[in-house]
Amino acid sequence: MTAVVHRAPVVLSPGSVALTDGAVAVAGDRILAVGPADEVLAAAGPDAEVHEWDGALTPGLVNAHTHLQYSDMAAVGLAEHAGFEAWMSAFMELYPVPRDWGASAAAGAALALRSGTTAVAEIVTDAAAGSAVHDAGLHGIAFWEVLGWTDRAWADGGESTVRAQLAALPTPPATGLSPHAIYSLDTGVIRDLARLAQQLGVRQHIHAAESAWEDAYVRTGTGDLAERWRANGRGEFALLRHGGVGTGVLRYLDDLGALTPTTHLAHGIYVDADDRALLRTRGVSVALCPRSNAVIGLDAPPVAAYLREGNAIAVGTDSLSSSPSLSPWQDVAALHDIARAQGYRDDDLHARLFAAATAGGAHALGLDDTGVLRVGARADLAVFPVAASTPREALAELVEAGPAEASLTVVGGRVRWDRTRVAARAIA
Ligand SMILES: [Zn+2]
Repeated sequence: MTAVVHRAPVVLSPGSVALTDGAVAVAGDRILAVGPADEVLAAAGPDAEVHEWDGALTPGLVNAHTHLQYSDMAAVGLAEHAGFEAWMSAFMELYPVPRDWGASAAAGAALALRSGTTAVAEIVTDAAAGSAVHDAGLHGIAFWEVLGWTDRAWADGGESTVRAQLAALPTPPATGLSPHAIYSLDTGVIRDLARLAQQLGVRQHIHAAESAWEDAYVRTGTGDLAERWRANGRGEFALLRHGGVGTGVLRYLDDLGALTPTTHLAHGIYVDADDRALLRTRGVSVALCPRSNAVIGLDAPPVAAYLREGNAIAVGTDSLSSSPSLSPWQDVAALHDIARAQGYRDDDLHARLFAAATAGGAHALGLDDTGVLRVGARADLAVFPVAASTPREALAELVEAGPAEASLTVVGGRVRWDRTRVAARAIA
C-alpha cells in the first residue's frame, strides 16, 4: 500500500506533538508515522505520495454536540434571543415548516468537513436526516433523539418504537440514544432509556443544565417551562404532578441511572461544585457550546471551574439554529475568552482547549484512537491556515483566532475537503 505523506510547517497533537516542519504518513485509514518531516519521509519510503501544506496540521476536530439537520434553520441561529423561552418560540415557529431534512443535514455535514471536523456527535430528530453522517463519511455517533413521551404513552409500545427507529439509522457511524432533556421526557422514560442503552450497548447523549428554566422545573415543578407544559397538556409528567424532586438536573439524572461513563452531556452551564464532582465520579464528559449559549441568551458555561477541577470536557457547536457556524475552533476561541474572564490564568489554557476539541471530544464519544496524531491511530486530520511559524505561537493563534475553515480535512485516510482544489476549480 502506497503511503501518503502530509507535510506542514507546524504539526500539533494534544499532549505529545509540537513540531516545526513535521509530517504525518498515512497508510489506508491509519497513521503510519508522525514526526519531523525527514524522518516521516524516510519511514514512508520512496514511493510515497507527498503533499506539502501551509499552516498547522492537527488531528481532525471532534464536534461533540450538533444537530446537522437544522443547518437549514440558520435564520434562528443568526438572530439574538432574550433567553431559552424566546429562542424556543423562534425555533418552534420555523420547525414545522416543511423542508428537506435530508438535504439540510447533508449541507451541515459538508460545512462540518469544511471546518476541519472529522467526527461528530450528531443528534437525529427526523428520520430523513439520519443518513447525513454516514453519507459524508464522517466518524462519530448518530444519536436518535427521543422526546415527548409520557410514562403512560411509553408503556404502550414506546420501547419497541424507539428500538425500531434506532435500528433504521444507517451505519457506520455507530448509533446511540439521545434522551432529549429532563423536561421533554417523563421520569420513567429516562430511566428506561438508560437501561435500554446499556442493554443495546449504545451510548447516550443528553441536553442537561442548559437553562435556569430547566433548573426550576426539576427542583419544584414551577417556572415558565412548567407553566408552558401544563398549558400544552403535558401536566401529567411526574415532575409536574409532584412539584419537582428537590434536586438539580444532574442529581435527578443520576438517580435515574442516566449518568454513566457511556453518556455525555451537552451544555452543563447551571452546575455547582457538587454537580461537577458527580460528573467526575461517574466519568461523564460535558460538551460545551458557548456560542449557542450566547445566541440563546444564556449564561456562559463555567469552563474555568471545569478546567481547574479536572472535569472531562469537549467542544460542540450545537446547530445552526442556535449558532453562527459549525466551526469548533470558533467555540474554542469563545471558551478561551470566557475562561480568562472567569479568572483562569494558567498558561496551559491553549493546550487544554485544543485537547478538548480533539482528544476530549473523542473521549466523550468513546472513540478509540481518534483525536490524536500517533502511530496506529485513525488517520483523521486537518490543516488550518495560520500566520505563526512556531508550534507555540501557532497553537495560540488557532485557539484565540479560531479559523473557520480548514485547508484540508482527511477522514480515515480519505481527503474529504481540500480548499486548494476548490480554488483551482474556481480559477479554471
Ligand atoms: Zn442541542
